[in-house]
Amino acid sequence: MLYQSTRDPSHKKYTSAQVIKMGLAPDGGLFLPETIPTLTAEEIRTLCGDSYPVRAAKVLGKFLTDYTYEELLSDCREAYKEASFPGGAAPLVHVHDALYTLELWHGPTAAFKDMALQIMPRLLSRALVKTGETREALILVATSGDTGKAALEGYRDVDRVRIMVFYPVDGVSRVQKLQMTTQTGSNVQVCAIHGNFDDAQTGVKKIFSDPEMAAKLDSRGFVLSSANSINWGRLAPQIVYYVSAYCDLLSTGAIRQGEAMDVCVPTGNFGNIFAAYIARLMGLPIRHLVCASNQNNVLTDFLATGTYNRNRAFHLTMSPSMDILISSNLERLLCLAAGEERTAGYMESLKNTGAYTVDDDVLRDIRRIFSGYFAGENLTAATINEYFESYGYLADTHTAVGLACAGQYRESLPAGDNTPLVVASTASPYKFAADVFTALTDGTELPHDPLSALDQLAERTGTEIPYPLRDLRGRQVRFTEVISPKDMPEKVLSFCEKA
Ligand SMILES: *Cc1c(COP(=O)(O)O)cnc(C)c1O
Repeated sequence: MLYQSTRDPSHKKYTSAQVIKMGLAPDGGLFLPETIPTLTAEEIRTLCGDSYPVRAAKVLGKFLTDYTYEELLSDCREAYKEASFPGGAAPLVHVHDALYTLELWHGPTAAFKDMALQIMPRLLSRALVKTGETREALILVATSGDTGKAALEGYRDVDRVRIMVFYPVDGVSRVQKLQMTTQTGSNVQVCAIHGNFDDAQTGVKKIFSDPEMAAKLDSRGFVLSSANSINWGRLAPQIVYYVSAYCDLLSTGAIRQGEAMDVCVPTGNFGNIFAAYIARLMGLPIRHLVCASNQNNVLTDFLATGTYNRNRAFHLTMSPSMDILISSNLERLLCLAAGEERTAGYMESLKNTGAYTVDDDVLRDIRRIFSGYFAGENLTAATINEYFESYGYLADTHTAVGLACAGQYRESLPAGDNTPLVVASTASPYKFAADVFTALTDGTELPHDPLSALDQLAERTGTEIPYPLRDLRGRQVRFTEVISPKDMPEKVLSFCEKA
C-alpha cells in the first residue's frame, strides 16, 4: 500500500513509514492511500470475536503495510491496554431506542485524541528505523489544551522521541494546565508562553520552517516531526473504532450481518468523521454520516451550499475543541470526490480569499453520504440536561453537540426508520465539568471553581471521576517556566542538548 498527496496529479508515491515520519506532503497536501483496502463480510464476522487490540492490528495492517502484523499487534496491545473496560478501548453504549454512543475517552487523558495518540508514537518510533533515520525525532506541539496533554501522555518515554509542548499561559483551563504541568516522563518538556494560542502556534511554525534551526537540531542529532491531526498516523487508528462499533452492534444482535448503521460525529478538523468515511469506503455498512458542528458552523454551511467560507466571526464556545474555522482534513474528502487538480485549486482559493465553492457534481456526491447540522450554546446545554434527566446519560459538551445534531437528523428520517445511529462521544464529561455541571442545574448553580466542579459533578450525578482526572491537586508540578514567544527556539535547542 503506497500513499500520495491530495495536491499532486502526478501521483508520486510514499510508503506508510515515510508518510508517518513526514506528516505533511512536500507540496503542502495531505497523504491519502492510493487505493482503499476492502473489508469483507467474512472478515467483519471474524473481527466480532476479537479484542479491541486485535481488531486494531488487523484493520491497521491493511493500511500500514511496512509494518508486520506482529509489530502492529504488539503496539496495539500496549496502546490500548487501559481497555480493561467492558467493550474494550471504545465501548458502545446503548442510550435509548436506536441511539448509541461510542465512548472514545477511556484512555489516559479522558479525551478521544488518546485513541490515536496512544498508538502513533509507537508507529513513529518504528518508522524512524524503517526509513533508515539515524537521528531522534523531536515533536513540537502548540496546544490550546487537549492535544498537548494527549500528545505528552502518548509520547512519554517512547524510544528515540522527545516531545516539547507550548501552551498560552492564560489560554488553557486550570484542569488542562495541571494535567500538563504535572506530566511525568524523561523525554518531555512543557513550557508556557506569554501570549495567546496563535502566538504559540506561530512560534512553532516558525521553528518548523527555519532552515537554520533544522541545521542546529541536525547537529544535535534531532529531526523535527509533528503530532498534528493531519498526519495519517493519527487518522488510520480512528478508522478502527467504527469497525469495532459495527462488530459490537452485530454481537449484541442489534443488527444482522449486512444491515447498516448511521454515524454522527462532533466535528472540528474533520479528522474523526473522515475516518468513518474511510471505513465506509472499505465496505463497512454505514448508511449516512452526520457532521455535527457547534456555533462555528462553517461545515454545516458548506454541506448545505457547496461554499466553504472562513470569513466569519469566530465564537468561543463550551465545546472548544470544535472551535475551528479551517477544517484541514476536509481536503482529503475533496480529493476523493473531485481529484487532485480541482482540490489544489480549492485550496489555493482558500489561501487567497478564505473561501471556495465546489462544483455541483462534487457537492452532489458528498451530500449523498454527508449531512451537516449544528447546535448553538443553549441547545447544547439543554441537551446535556435532557439526556441526563431522561436517559441517565451524562454527556460532555462536545458529545452533546453530537446528540443534538443526531436528534435533528432523526427528525428528517421517515417515521419507523430504526437504523441504529452511533454518536461518537469525544470527551469525558469531567473534562468539561464546570459547563456540564452548570447545564445540569439549568444555570441556577455555578461550580465553586474549576477543580471543585469535578467533585460537585460527581456528587450531583452519582458518577465517578475517571482516573486521569482524579487527585489532580495532589500531583507534583514539574514545569513552571513562562517564556516570551521569541525565546522559543532557544528553549527548544537547550532541550536538545545531548543528555
Ligand atoms: C478534537 C476533538 C473534536 C474534533 O475532532 P476532529 O477530528 O478535529 O473533527 C471533537 N471533540 C473533542 C473533545 C476533541 O478533542
